[in-house]
Amino acid sequence: MKKYLYETHLHTYPVSRCARAGVRESLEFYKSAGYAGVFLTNHFLDGNINIERNLPYEERLRFYFSDYLEAVKIGEELGISVFLGVEMSDWGTDFLIYGLPMEWFFDHPEIEGMDRVEQLKLLAAEGALIIHAHPFRSYDCMKLFPRFVHGVETYNAGRNDFENAMAEQYAENYNLPKFAGTDNHRAGVQTLFGGMSAESPVENEQDFVTRFKKSELEIFKLKF
Ligand SMILES: [Zn+2]
Ligand SMILES: [Zn+2]
Repeated sequence: MKKYLYETHLHTYPVSRCARAGVRESLEFYKSAGYAGVFLTNHFLDGNINIERNLPYEERLRFYFSDYLEAVKIGEELGISVFLGVEMSDWGTDFLIYGLPMEWFFDHPEIEGMDRVEQLKLLAAEGALIIHAHPFRSYDCMKLFPRFVHGVETYNAGRNDFENAMAEQYAENYNLPKFAGTDNHRAGVQTLFGGMSAESPVENEQDFVTRFKKSELEIFKLKF
């Protein structure tokens, strides 16, 4: 059966300061690689976003969504689905958030500066899918929130085998569903890929969330 491939963890420049590829280059690459769609998961206002931190919330948010809005247009032109995701950060602890529309973030400025557990509880209550991204990336310290996430990125194409194996064990020990993504910051220069596949096209973000929760999506790993 034909599988529909989705990139779940993708950064673009200029919104993600650390990204090396823009929106068009990234989408052209994924289209040519045969993917059905991508989730843009740029670094949110609490992460490595490429804008002054002292600007008003709304202004930073408009900048944050600018790459996504550009991607939606280019995606239509190229014939590849573009979905919204968000990568939130807490000093080296990162969460991939799926299923909340852009407007939700404009309506909830209180999420900034909120206690992290309270924030995760709110996001979940509002219907978001929360995945702990690369939980064992070796920074100075690692924080785990097993009771407040819905899944674990057990395969991150940018992390080494040890870090991914630790993530896998963490997911198994806490009985958390497994998830995969590339964490691509450089379009087709990237060689290892991870993502989620579906048996029929994903319609929108909520459809993706529902199917993941029903264990209808499968992890895939690719090398180009
Ligand atoms: Zn980054
Ligand atoms: Zn990332």
